Amino acid sequence: MYLYNSVSHKKEEFRTHTPGRVEMYTCGPTVYHFAHIGNLRSYIMEDVLEKYLRYAGYEVNRVMNITDVGHLSSDADTGEDKMLKGAKREHKTVLEIARFYTDAFFDDCRKLNIKTPDVVQPATGCIDEYIRIISRLVETEYAYLSGGNVYFDTSKLGRYYVFNDHDEEDLAVGVREGVEEDANKRNKNDFVLWFTRSKFEDQALKWDSPWGVGYPGWHIECSGISMKYNGEYLDLHCGGVDNAFPHHTNEIAQSESYLGHPWCPQWFHVHHLNTEGGKMSKSKGEFLTVSLLEEKGYDPLAYRYFCLQSHYRKALVFSWENLDNAVAAYHKLVARIAALTPGGEVDRAVFDRYREKFLQQMGNDLNTSMGVTAVFDVLKAGTDDATKLALIGDFDAVLSLSLLEKAAARRAEDARVKAVPAADGAYAVTGEGDPEIDARVLARYEAKKAKNFAEADRIREELKAMGVEITDVKGGASWRRV
Ligand code: AMP
Ligand code: ZN
Repeated sequence: MYLYNSVSHKKEEFRTHTPGRVEMYTCGPTVYHFAHIGNLRSYIMEDVLEKYLRYAGYEVNRVMNITDVGHLSSDADTGEDKMLKGAKREHKTVLEIARFYTDAFFDDCRKLNIKTPDVVQPATGCIDEYIRIISRLVETEYAYLSGGNVYFDTSKLGRYYVFNDHDEEDLAVGVREGVEEDANKRNKNDFVLWFTRSKFEDQALKWDSPWGVGYPGWHIECSGISMKYNGEYLDLHCGGVDNAFPHHTNEIAQSESYLGHPWCPQWFHVHHLNTEGGKMSKSKGEFLTVSLLEEKGYDPLAYRYFCLQSHYRKALVFSWENLDNAVAAYHKLVARIAALTPGGEVDRAVFDRYREKFLQQMGNDLNTSMGVTAVFDVLKAGTDDATKLALIGDFDAVLSLSLLEKAAARRAEDARVKAVPAADGAYAVTGEGDPEIDARVLARYEAKKAKNFAEADRIREELKAMGVEITDVKGGASWRRV
């Protein structure tokens, strides 16, 4: 596979430390509010990436944190703690907030066919891990104590801005936007590893540490959790593009200083979903959720389809019109799959040829729109329906659009409404599309018409024994399996 790497700024052949095995880490949600559909764009694309790697034959160990402590908008005293803010807003404890929004996040993921990572770790569950790392950083003087907090000293690094070729000053201005300077820092990019003092008298979650009672900074959680479950060599780190700086930059700084060797060579960043008015953001208060899409009558999988149609490295503009177009395309695709007839032999040679093509297309920097196009190519292919359905099911292991399930449901629905008329045209049977059962129900009608009620009852009993229930309706009968 070829994947764009944010560190090298180019597409590179994907490699792993241990051949055949991928240690993968994803920055998880900050659970102080519902995830918006922009956040979920990132998780959809990361889900496709994970599934693609498995499809390509890798064994994958995917780890994700849940930020339930210490996500600050700033290290300074005037910055706010997102979890505390959520708790105050809803008059609940931080843990109640965390539990509620973690569940809500996974509900959304389920609706979008996003697989749960192999390991999901709330940040509050790994405090010992962070203390161990910070202790070593203090010992080796990569970290220092100031104003009661422990800071990472970025001046100790040969190279700090690993993701951008930007001017240092430009970046610093961006970071400072709306954020106060912290007078305790030696250098402007230094960041907190452990808080003990300052604004957080009302901080609910605190732990004992060699530096006093306090709590971890945001960045340390991902390093600690990844090292605990992925080991010292991470192959692939994922997140939204806004995480690249300062979050991922700081993760690299502290991890490599702690380990004394390179930590993660490949970084995958998903670009933002924007509304026509700009970036979608949780902190702005108003945002689109999966529940809102459902309330408006949208199938969450149509949103997944919408995301797959565009490349993860391009900003995607959300509008209702764009979503409606995706809904129409998704329905059309499902209808075309529903028109295929299941059953029969799969042509292995054709199957392998198309599978290989899909593997190549998706393997070109996760080209999901080509992945969707590959399904249309299969529909157009000069092969039998059995092979087409097998291929579509195979591709859907990566795309996760529930294509076969939706098509089967549609087929059943079409069959249910298709009426089969009796010879005299005065009676019709509707059912689940089984000609043999339709014929028996019609035979019962003919028996009744000939006043042979014993035969009519016998047929009804016979169908009942087969698990088929008949309901007489105006102008005919309908049947269903119970
Ligand atoms: P958060 O819950 O704020 O920590 O964000 C969860 C994930 O969503 C992170 O990987 C973010 O980088 C990503 N993210 C945030 N905003 C957007 C957006 N508008 N579009 C896509 N991804 C986003
Ligand atoms: Zn992270």
